[in-house]
Amino acid sequence: MKDAVTKTEHASPAGGDTAIHIADLHKSFGDLEVLTGIDLDVRRGEVVCVIGPSGSGKSTLLRCVNLLEEPTSGTITVAGTEVTDENVDIDRVRRGIGMVFQSFNLFPHLTVIENLTIAQRRVLGREKDEARKVARRNLERVGMTEKESAYPAKLSGGQQQRVAIARALSMDPQLMLFDEPTSALDPELVGDVLSVMRRLAAEGMTMLVVTHEMSFAREVADRVVFMDGGVIVEEGPPEQVVVDPQHARTREFLSRVL
Ligand code: ADP
Ligand code: MG
Repeated sequence: MKDAVTKTEHASPAGGDTAIHIADLHKSFGDLEVLTGIDLDVRRGEVVCVIGPSGSGKSTLLRCVNLLEEPTSGTITVAGTEVTDENVDIDRVRRGIGMVFQSFNLFPHLTVIENLTIAQRRVLGREKDEARKVARRNLERVGMTEKESAYPAKLSGGQQQRVAIARALSMDPQLMLFDEPTSALDPELVGDVLSVMRRLAAEGMTMLVVTHEMSFAREVADRVVFMDGGVIVEEGPPEQVVVDPQHARTREFLSRVL
């Protein structure tokens, strides 16, 4: 529902429906070219899962989108702002993009709610009461209301990751990047985190998700992108890429992970 409203409100002939536009993106580390010409568009409200073998450039791609890595060449546009423009305000771009990593990166010396309010106050300049209100709303979204006064060390990995998601959401991001958010978790904790992500997707959040969870990709993704060797080998709806892949490299990868 929210998805439909957002799309109508922002639709424009200039392509306001596009959340991320990536054109001919290259990234090298020294002599090693890790991304060798990536073209990818993500629409507002779309969930795109990126799959592929280790070392294929998935994390680098995500890190280029929020400028944790500087692209070597090519352009990236996020919500109409070309972030690869040298005059862009990098901090402002990053503020609009939530990122969740494999490692949760919560501040160990802060309670859950303090972890959620600190950036809101320092970066967005929100008053304490307002920041706490936003934090509580987002803790509720991830089912962690009861733990607001706990320290991260007292939480399971799955709970810490849900807090990390709530922390990212508290900055009111336009889109969320997830880099293998469940890879560090014990198997029995993976489901809770995926449920939270599923709910976010259903609410219409734009999401670019690197994952090895093929059932998540199959059920939640609007589109699946298979990367290998720094290029997109194949992309399409999950029933095509995951269930009936066209390329031998995709089939070979899937036979190893499924
Ligand atoms: P994936 O996430 O698909 O496993 P990455 O994007 O992390 O792949 O890495 C792609 C390649 O880039 C790998 O060969 C990796 O060693 C290399 N790489 C990633 N980050 C750096 C870096 N900061 N410096 C040098 N090489 C890097
Ligand atoms: Mg990676």
